[in-house]
Amino acid sequence: MTPLVLTLAAIVSIPAGVPGGVVAVPVPADVVAVHFNDDAALLYRHHALVGLPLDTTPGRYHITARDGHGSTAQVPFDIAHKDYPEQRLTIANPRHVNPAPEDLRRIERESARMRDAYALMTPSAGNFHPFARPVAGAVTGTFGRRRILNGEARSPHRGLDIAAATGTPVVAPAPGRVAVTGNFFFNGNTVLLDHGDGLVSLYCHLHEIQVQEGDHMARGAALGTVGATGRATGPHLHWTVALRGVMIDPVGLTETLARLNAPADDAGGASARAQ
Ligand SMILES: [Zn+2]
Repeated sequence: MTPLVLTLAAIVSIPAGVPGGVVAVPVPADVVAVHFNDDAALLYRHHALVGLPLDTTPGRYHITARDGHGSTAQVPFDIAHKDYPEQRLTIANPRHVNPAPEDLRRIERESARMRDAYALMTPSAGNFHPFARPVAGAVTGTFGRRRILNGEARSPHRGLDIAAATGTPVVAPAPGRVAVTGNFFFNGNTVLLDHGDGLVSLYCHLHEIQVQEGDHMARGAALGTVGATGRATGPHLHWTVALRGVMIDPVGLTETLARLNAPADDAGGASARAQ
């Protein structure tokens, strides 16, 4: 048996990610578990997929890879700096910028419900690719923008906004189970899909919800329609994706999954490159 640390020598380039992105760290084929900061990361096609929180400090980091014999090794990756632009929005309902006390109680309840959903860890067949956009339309709000609402700084935008006409169907990007449906203070009519293995996705501001909690969705099945419910300046889909509880740029996840499923990567982990 070749020690894990020696098989790692075959990996020459150090992969790189950005805060708010997902990094794919190649690991040898005999690796059975990967961890980052003591949290189990997703092992996918001989890579550790790690979601990087928006507030992560750039620098050199490591995952821990473990093989079937219990040997472990540290595998490095870099987090590069990324400048996220500022977005200024005017919100018509002032309570959507400075919520009233009763709103805050509702927001706290809804946040707790969402935290539980983001922490879901259910089995999956790993059928994540292609993780296509759930609705066609222009991107009007990219992930990570620092938001100024009615002149006041608010939390960064942890999703992708896609503009489309009210009533446009929104479809599941990958198979999943409907874990949450409801009307939320900021997010409006919302559906949360659990794709398994700690990958969940969220669809907000829907005009209509067409599924129920517990429904199993095939890739491409409609879950609702585009609307402007909750805190929205016009009809659009707000799409959030979280991996192991970390909200990441959906575009980055889609692209990473596509790269790892490209024919050139079928041989395994040695072909990853910094990007
Ligand atoms: Zn949004």
